[in-house]
Amino acid sequence: MDFKKLPPVQEQLMKCVRCGKCRSVCPVFAEVGIETTAPRGHVFMVQMLRDGKVEPTNEVYERLGQCLLCETCSINCPSGIDVHELNAAARSYIYDNNPSVGKELLFETLWTKPAMLRSSARVMSAAQKLGLQSLARKTGLTKILPGDLKEAEQMMDNIPSKSARSRLSEINLAREEKKYTVGYFLGCGTDLFSPNVAVAAVDVLTRNGCEVIIPKDMKCCGLPHIANGKIETAQKLAAHNIKVLNAYDFDYIVTDCASCSSALSRKNMEFLFAGLKIEDAALALSEKVLDLTVFLIDVLDIRLPQKKTAEKIRVTYHDPCHLANAQLIKDHPRELLRRIPGIQLAEMKAPNTCCGGSGTYSTTHYEMSMKILDKKMDNAMETGAKILTTCCPSCIMQLSYGCKRHNWDVQVLHPVELLSRYYQS
Ligand code: SF4
Ligand code: SF4
Repeated sequence: MDFKKLPPVQEQLMKCVRCGKCRSVCPVFAEVGIETTAPRGHVFMVQMLRDGKVEPTNEVYERLGQCLLCETCSINCPSGIDVHELNAAARSYIYDNNPSVGKELLFETLWTKPAMLRSSARVMSAAQKLGLQSLARKTGLTKILPGDLKEAEQMMDNIPSKSARSRLSEINLAREEKKYTVGYFLGCGTDLFSPNVAVAAVDVLTRNGCEVIIPKDMKCCGLPHIANGKIETAQKLAAHNIKVLNAYDFDYIVTDCASCSSALSRKNMEFLFAGLKIEDAALALSEKVLDLTVFLIDVLDIRLPQKKTAEKIRVTYHDPCHLANAQLIKDHPRELLRRIPGIQLAEMKAPNTCCGGSGTYSTTHYEMSMKILDKKMDNAMETGAKILTTCCPSCIMQLSYGCKRHNWDVQVLHPVELLSRYYQS
């Protein structure tokens, strides 16, 4: 990958007018207050890397790596600079010059092979049940993995023993007159950590006239790779998924994971493939992709029957960055919740600020992640909600950990789980 040829690096660096608007909205800068952690500082750093004034060292990676890639700066930049893309591009450039065994093992060997990833999750789940996590640490294997495994263990202390893939069929027929053939993009997070979300999504879709196909050969959407300096691997994963998904004649492709829908979006396809031969196929795919909540509202216009038994329940909603910032989707999840009889939506303060999860960030930058999470939890708890909802498995994991950390006894769910429960009640 030629870092200097990536579209944001070629086209956007000179547009920065150093106004500092991005700095005023950055959750990491709010905690640290040092210019090198601010988005404006990152833009400057990328420029120096491009011009060869700074060497691509691990120290520079560490500075850029403090960013959550939450995209808050990008949507607030008056010059329209995709600061997060510049940051991700620079991370890859630096990583290519300083590869590490641990990252290769995790992101190249494991995370590109769904069957192996699933087996690892099964092993972790079994190890948790047997209390054997310390064994992995003692073997020394964990020392080479990126991030702090001790913290990661705390975050992932309840891995389901069965993946969504093992609970769902490849083809799920419509349960009423068929309206659409829908490809369901089953992301790694939903598959391994939130399988109930996938089961609920398929339940709701098939009840509403969709034949849901979950293609067997799909791989990770590649977003974790982009965040961890491996853009070339993300390109390979996306190219694979484009080939697999474009071979079907889907009316739509839906996903319940904000990160996956942003990875499959036109914007990200342009970032990965602008000017390359595969670009047209990539854009053709992204044309069909919709976040599940958008599909349920805009395409199916889902309406639920009133039931006498519908209990009133207070629910709050957290905006995932990859939905609210990356795709400007805020209304659809809320509208979906409002359409479920009995649900009373209680907005939290600053629902659109990052929860600090950001995929692997909570394990690579645990302390910063917790500072940001604690603010989010204060705002969520203030609502007095009984259920906390969001549309991203990474946020679900982070917020569930936040609830435990703050002894807040609520469920953390995707809105589609409430929808499915309502149908079944
Ligand atoms: S908001 Fe945009 S133009 Fe202003 S300093 Fe940040 S990156 Fe530069
Ligand atoms: S993406 Fe988020 S964390 Fe990163 S610099 Fe921008 S606002 Fe800050």
